[in-house]
Amino acid sequence: MSSSKNWRPATKLIHSGTSRSQHGETSEALFLTQGYLYDSAEAAEARFNGDEAGFIYSRYGNPTVDMFEKRMCEIEGAEAARATASGMAAVAASIACQVKAGDHVIAAKALFGSCRWIVETLMPQYGVEFSLVDGKDINAWKAAVKPNTTVFFLESPTNPTLELVDIKAVADLAHENGAVLIVDNVFATPLHQSPMELGADIVMYSTTKHIDGQGRCLGGIILGSEEWVNEHLHEYFRHTGPSMSPFNAWNFLKGLETLSIRVNQQTASAGMIADLIADNTCINKMIYPGHESHPQAELAQRQMRGGSTMLAFEVKGGKEKAFKFINALETIQISNNLGDAKSLITHPATTTHKNLSDEDRDELGISDGMIRLSVGLEDSADLIEDIEQALSVAQ
Ligand SMILES: *Cc1c(COP(=O)(O)O)cnc(C)c1O
Repeated sequence: MSSSKNWRPATKLIHSGTSRSQHGETSEALFLTQGYLYDSAEAAEARFNGDEAGFIYSRYGNPTVDMFEKRMCEIEGAEAARATASGMAAVAASIACQVKAGDHVIAAKALFGSCRWIVETLMPQYGVEFSLVDGKDINAWKAAVKPNTTVFFLESPTNPTLELVDIKAVADLAHENGAVLIVDNVFATPLHQSPMELGADIVMYSTTKHIDGQGRCLGGIILGSEEWVNEHLHEYFRHTGPSMSPFNAWNFLKGLETLSIRVNQQTASAGMIADLIADNTCINKMIYPGHESHPQAELAQRQMRGGSTMLAFEVKGGKEKAFKFINALETIQISNNLGDAKSLITHPATTTHKNLSDEDRDELGISDGMIRLSVGLEDSADLIEDIEQALSVAQ
């Protein structure tokens, strides 16, 4: 077992959590197995009693998935983790495993659409109340607290408007009220933000995004303290089975090996594009957490180590000009995915955020001209040329 808390992140991404078989393979082995054999009936009994360490069934644990969970724990600074079949399975499990009827959840309004559905539609079916607040406003979080509040949930930066939530302030508030804070850290990636260092109790990812980074597998992960995982998540997970497939875990282990160079390169290109379009006359506004023009630039400096691989901007002329711009792009492709090696662009108002009411979209600042760009690994000069030519077409 390779394990060193002293490694720097890029080294942990490559070596942490590796457990080699008797063959001493260089690349992590893919244990594509559902179950495990026991040498005797006594050995099976001991394994089930927990008297002997070892795997029992891949719904609860698998050596390849275990390597992925351990590597993620070391990167995140978490004690324990459970990998899930998708990012949404991680969101659903992280909330559902710990709430009961009569509890109250507070979440920031600017959430990934399906996360919002879980809080707003699914949880109330089980008698769990909710409040949605403006995540930027700590007083709104304070005002929403009730005696039965048990969970706070947020995303920062948010999708698609790249607003930030002050994670430390919300974590302190949650703890003062005996609640826990769950942070969806997808947009920041583990390289740019460590929510646990800021006080978050639980961090989750859709590993579908930057951790895969090449558009292949769906996955997710929930990280927390050993105590929280044992008390809340372990049994829930065992009995409801949202587990990650070993094949996908193997793919994500490979993704982690290159996460640092990919995210750093994508962030550098995103920063260059942000500089380029910040003052372009075809653009109303540009939102990038690493840019001095970001309304929360000071908070970005305080809680993030880097900008983002994502940027949002508003093309003048509403939906018509936004579509004209998107359709004129030649290198950047149209897709609602993100964190990919390929640069991907989307028009949130008509795709990812189309199910929100006009009022909710206005409130979140998702205008008809708003475009979200996930910057990929292409040469930044090609991306910049593509954006410049498409802006001139859309003018
Ligand atoms: C994509 C995404 C999810 C959902 O993840 P899936 O892997 O698609 O299920 C949740 N939160 C955020 C912020 C995301 O971007």
